[in-house]
Amino acid sequence: MRLLIKNARLVDGSGELGTADVLIEEGRIASLAGGDAERVLDAGGRWLAPALTDPHVHLRTPGQETKEELATGLAAAARGGYGTVVAMPNTEPVIQEPEQVRALSDEARTLPGARLLVAAALTENQEGRKLTPAALLARAGAALLTDDGRTNEDAGVLARGLVYAAAAGLAVAVHAEDAGLRGGGVMNDGPLAAELGLAGNPPEAEAARIARDLEVLRYAARKAAALGHAPRLYLQHVSTARGAALVAAARAEGLPVMGEVTPHHLTLTEEAWRGFDARFKVAPPLRTEGDVEALIGALERGGLSAVGTDHAPHTAAEKERDLENAPFGMPSLEVAFPLLYTELVERRGLPLALLIERMTTGPRAALGLAPARLAEGAPADLMLFDPAEKRTVDPARFVSKARYSPWAGRELVGWPLLTLVAGREVWRDAGLA
Ligand SMILES: [Zn+2]
Repeated sequence: MRLLIKNARLVDGSGELGTADVLIEEGRIASLAGGDAERVLDAGGRWLAPALTDPHVHLRTPGQETKEELATGLAAAARGGYGTVVAMPNTEPVIQEPEQVRALSDEARTLPGARLLVAAALTENQEGRKLTPAALLARAGAALLTDDGRTNEDAGVLARGLVYAAAAGLAVAVHAEDAGLRGGGVMNDGPLAAELGLAGNPPEAEAARIARDLEVLRYAARKAAALGHAPRLYLQHVSTARGAALVAAARAEGLPVMGEVTPHHLTLTEEAWRGFDARFKVAPPLRTEGDVEALIGALERGGLSAVGTDHAPHTAAEKERDLENAPFGMPSLEVAFPLLYTELVERRGLPLALLIERMTTGPRAALGLAPARLAEGAPADLMLFDPAEKRTVDPARFVSKARYSPWAGRELVGWPLLTLVAGREVWRDAGLA
């Protein structure tokens, strides 16, 4: 069945493309100049963009379905304007065998939300010692390899992992914090942690690990080149000014590294801890105003080239524990785009196309996927959003199982009203005629 989306303002990572009537047929954009269709939808001048890609979500399946399930996580993603998400493998059991990757992918295809890509562990049980079979995992459809949730303490294992992943065509994603320096820190280390009497996690824990990982990458790139391959290192959730500067310098030098930044590190600071509320507990921790400014600058200039949510749902009861014992992580799939549209585009004048690029093509590069473009013949993975209608973040209405939010009560614009995956409607807001 053909669908015509009339009167839409088009934007993708290449720029704003003017108003057009978009014809969708057999899962692809058939025309940007209208045409006959069985179904017609008037976009009313709202923005139509490629559906977003999130390279970093925790869907807690298998084994932790009290926190999130595939169905709720993929529905939350669709509602947030995401067409594709990559689920992390720190589940119970850990996702590390080809059969697990196939089974999860197959299950997701029966569900109505966003498209699921599955990340597999880099090392057995994410223990950082013995590598998983990269080539077999790639053949089973794994999107990347990562021990996220844990840190990679053994540099030699990471170097070999990068080489084998390169040969298999996969990127390696890392949670770059030095475990020893981080210690038992629950919030950013500094005067505020001292004032509140809480254990600090210093920015140097991240910067030191990023610096090490860049040297590991330099070595792995040399090893892999001798075999005719090129590794890709993806640094997850960079949270500090120093970390961002290190990634930017390495990219300028030509090292094959990509850096990710999260919606929370772009919009919240450690000051949130004054409320002693574990909703703000996340790893790496919320940092200072200076870090937020540096991260936004790095996102704008491309030192950090991807936004990943690190959507990390826990039960409300877990997050109501005291600050030392509550788990790290926050849910954000349903608010990430309106949050960043409001805070970065509306309030700070970041170009819309740039934000779209960092939420589509940037993450897709880490996955080895083609840029997301609105062009005839391109897949109809699309997202329609309203730049004007204000809505308040109301976690009680989340479809994610994690119905709390550090942004609860914030008034935002830019809410996705329609998300299509290969032309199939996976989210449609009741307010869309
Ligand atoms: Zn992480």
